[in-house]
Amino acid sequence: MTTRYEPVIGLEVHCQLLTDEKLFCGCPTRFGADVNAQTCPICLGMPGVLPVLNRQAVDYAVKAGLALGCTVNRRSHFARKHYFYPDLPKGYQITQYEVPVLEHGRLEFDVDGVTMSAGIRRIHMEEDAGKSLHADTGSTLVDLNRAGVPLVEIVGEPDLRSVDQAVAYLKALHAIVRFLGICDGNMEEGSFRCDANVSVRPVGRAELGTRVEIKNMNTFKGIHRALTYEVERQIAVNEDGGTVVQETRLWDDAAGRTRAMRSKEEAHDYRYFPEPDLPPLDVAEAQIAAIRAELPELPRARRQRFERDIGLSAYDAGVLTSERALADYFEAAVAVHPDPKLISNWLTTELLGRLPAERIGVSPIPPASLARLVALIGEGTISGRIAKDVFEAMFAGEGTPDEIVAKRGLVQVSDAASIEAVAREVITKNPSQVEQFRAGKAALKGYFVGQVMKAMSGKANPKLTNEIVDRLLAGEGT
Ligand code: ADP
Ligand code: MG
Ligand code: ZN
Repeated sequence: MTTRYEPVIGLEVHCQLLTDEKLFCGCPTRFGADVNAQTCPICLGMPGVLPVLNRQAVDYAVKAGLALGCTVNRRSHFARKHYFYPDLPKGYQITQYEVPVLEHGRLEFDVDGVTMSAGIRRIHMEEDAGKSLHADTGSTLVDLNRAGVPLVEIVGEPDLRSVDQAVAYLKALHAIVRFLGICDGNMEEGSFRCDANVSVRPVGRAELGTRVEIKNMNTFKGIHRALTYEVERQIAVNEDGGTVVQETRLWDDAAGRTRAMRSKEEAHDYRYFPEPDLPPLDVAEAQIAAIRAELPELPRARRQRFERDIGLSAYDAGVLTSERALADYFEAAVAVHPDPKLISNWLTTELLGRLPAERIGVSPIPPASLARLVALIGEGTISGRIAKDVFEAMFAGEGTPDEIVAKRGLVQVSDAASIEAVAREVITKNPSQVEQFRAGKAALKGYFVGQVMKAMSGKANPKLTNEIVDRLLAGEGT
C-alpha cells in the first residue's frame, strides 16, 4: 500500500509600505534612485544617532491588520534582531518580536470556486535591509537605499493544504494590500516578497512534518513551481526512507529546483533584545477607529457584489477586482451607461489587451468614453466591427467616440434600400458563386455578406445585410 501525503504550507510575506519616508528617518523611499543616494546617518547605522518612528507606517500596518481581522495590540514593542551581513549596517535589524502590533487575523480566498480561509498569526513592523550587489570582479558592493524602508511581515498559520491554496492565499493578500494602497505589490522590485514554509505528512497524521523554508521566489508562477517542486521533493525523500531536514532552500527559477543554502549561513542566533532607543509603540483607540472608518470595500466583497448585484460571471468579476483602479474604472463606466456585460467585455479584452491593469488609471480612454462607445453599439449607430476602429482611435487620443464617428463618417448604414442596391450588384458580379450557393453550398452566404460589407467600408448594419443577402439569394425579388 502506498502512503498518500498531504502538503502543509505557511507563508511569511514581507510588504514594503508606501510611505514617502523611511521607518526611522526622513530619507525618501522611492525605488530606482542612484546607489546610496537615499541615506543618512540614521539608516547608515552611524553611532550616536536615534531612530524616530514614522507614524504613517504604523497607520498602514494597522490598516492591513484591520483588513485581515487582526486584533490591534494597543501597546507593542520594538526589538533588535542581530545578524551579521554587509547590507545591515547597524549589525541588527529593528523589528518586533514578543509583542507585535497586530495578531490573530484571518484571510479568506477562493480555490476553484470554493471559499477557504487561513489564520494570520501576526503582523509586525520592521525595517528593510539594504541590497548587496555582486560585481563581476568578485567583490560585493552595497546599496543602502532600501535600508530602513518600512515593512510589515504578515505571518500566516500553517493552514494551507495544497500549492493551489497557497497561491490563492497569496493572490488574495496581494490584492488586499494593493486595494488598501499600503503597498505597490511589485514582486519583481521586491515590494511584496514571500517566504514559504513547506512540510508534508502522511494523510491522517495529526502532527506536522519537518518544515523547510523556501526563499527567493518573485513571481506567482515561480512560487507555484517552487512549492510544487518542494512538495514532490519531500515526498520522494520520505518514500526513499529518508528524513526531511529542517533547512532554508533557495528557489532557482532557471533550473526549476530548490537547493539547500549553506547551513553555516543558516546557523542564526539572533540574540533578540528590546530596542532601548524607541519607546513602546502605542496605538490609540481613536486612531484605530479612524483607520477602520477609512477601509475601502475589499476585493472579495467587491467581487461578490459584481457577481451578485451587477450580474457578471465569476471570471469577469475576478479579473475586474484584481486591481482597485480597474474596479473603479469599471464602475465609473457602468454609471454612465448601465450595460455591465458589454463594458466588461470591452474593458477586459480590448483595454487590458493594450494596457496593464495597474496603469488603467492613466488610460488614454476615460471610463465615460468607453461607456459611450458601448452605448453607440447598443443604439445601432455603429457596428461592433466599426467600434474596434473607434476604440483604436480613442486609444491613440483622437477624441471621444462621437467626435471620431463624426470625423471619420463611421455612422452605420441601416437604410435597407442602399444596402440592397449594393447587395444586388455583388450578386450580379458573382454569377458562379450564386450558382454554387443555389446548388447547396450554403457557406457561401458569408462570402456575399463580406463583399457587401467590404463595398460599404464595414458600415452596413450587419443584421440587415444578412437579411437582405438571404432574401436576394433565395431568389425573391431578383
Ligand atoms: P519561527 O518561530 O522559526 O519563525 P514559526 O513557528 O513562527 O517559526 O513559523 C514560521 C512560519 O512557518 C509560519 O508561517 C508558520 O505557518 C510556518 N510553519 C510552521 N511550522 C510549519 C510546518 N510544520 N509546515 C509548514 N509550515 C510551517
Ligand atoms: Mg519566522
Ligand atoms: Zn536615512
